[in-house]
Amino acid sequence: MYKKVGKIVLIVGALCLVFILAIGFIKDRKDTNEVTAQGNAVETEKDNKEQENDSKEEDNNGVKELRLSEENLLLKIGDKYSVEVEGLLADGSLIDLTDDSKLLSHSNNEEKISIEDGEIVVLDSAEADDEATITYVYENISATINVKVEAAEEPKKEEPKEEPKEEPKEESKEEPKEEPKEENNESDQNNNYNSNDKTVMIDEDGKQVVTNPKDIHVLVNKQRNLPSDYVPDDLIKPDIKFSFTHEDPKRYLREEAAHALERLVAQAKEEGIEIVGVSGYRSYKRQETIFNYNVNKRGYEAANKVSAKPGQSEHQTGLAIDVSCAGVNYKLQEKLGELKEGKWLAENAHKFGFIIRYQLGKEDITGYQYEPWHIRYLGEDLATDVYEKGLTYEEYFEQYMLNE
Ligand SMILES: [Zn+2]
Repeated sequence: MYKKVGKIVLIVGALCLVFILAIGFIKDRKDTNEVTAQGNAVETEKDNKEQENDSKEEDNNGVKELRLSEENLLLKIGDKYSVEVEGLLADGSLIDLTDDSKLLSHSNNEEKISIEDGEIVVLDSAEADDEATITYVYENISATINVKVEAAEEPKKEEPKEEPKEEPKEESKEEPKEEPKEENNESDQNNNYNSNDKTVMIDEDGKQVVTNPKDIHVLVNKQRNLPSDYVPDDLIKPDIKFSFTHEDPKRYLREEAAHALERLVAQAKEEGIEIVGVSGYRSYKRQETIFNYNVNKRGYEAANKVSAKPGQSEHQTGLAIDVSCAGVNYKLQEKLGELKEGKWLAENAHKFGFIIRYQLGKEDITGYQYEPWHIRYLGEDLATDVYEKGLTYEEYFEQYMLNE
């Protein structure tokens, strides 16, 4: 009897084993198949996309490469940041893709640094030194940006800065580009300037070019151009915080302005106001790129209101810098003027030798819309006098400096 039961158990056991093995085998095969199928699917999809891309290059706006406004970002917990994404076209021009519905983005550390409505958001779960790589994808083109979480407000010692280089290398040594030709039709606006003015001369294109680019008091605007090859020879990096972390020529200012800015930022900090550098020195070539980009994006008229033509930007003097604060996400927005940081700047910048160069309501005189973020170094005496008289620098120049 026992023998018989034993035999049955054995047989049933064996059958079960065979069954289990068979299922296992089938399952394995199925998994493998699935993986292969998925792999194929991905590849096929990619092929299709590539083909699609080849065949409808125009639908794709011909974008060849993505350019991001930042490569590295240092953000605090709770910060939100919107990166500007541009597409480089075959002809070298750029188009804005920031709000393009085809632009996708994702983070490799979603639980700490995520994307919400296209903005990078540092979640409360993040800690100092957490990092994420954000990938932007447009069709089959991608670009990445690294985000690092900065320690919260606790006053920590600034890391020692490297010795400032004499001048930004790539930008300062480059050959000056030829001046854009079709844009010289504005010289007829210059008649309001006294012909005794020794600070300008007329070049062969009929354009006014300043003769004193190195002068701390130089007046540069839409009538008065800097020489296209002018590069200040005393550019240094002010020891202040910037809205970006990478090395960049826009960190630089002329020495005197840089130290004045350090004092301004330090005094602000003492009063509980954090002011951050966004963009200082800008070469002729860089300004040319920016202006052409804006012409592409907005058309010539609008571009001329929001950006300077090459040679007409105060940033090329190394005496002007755009600044911002956390309240406007370190962007250059008019709202800055209503925040405590913007108000502090407007009331105190002159004490450190700076003026708010493009005032509200003075657009017709300066040629620029209101820019509460753009400060220009003139030295304490002159800046204070301009401030106290309540004039734009154009008005002050004409009334007080021209006939001296
Ligand atoms: Zn500016």
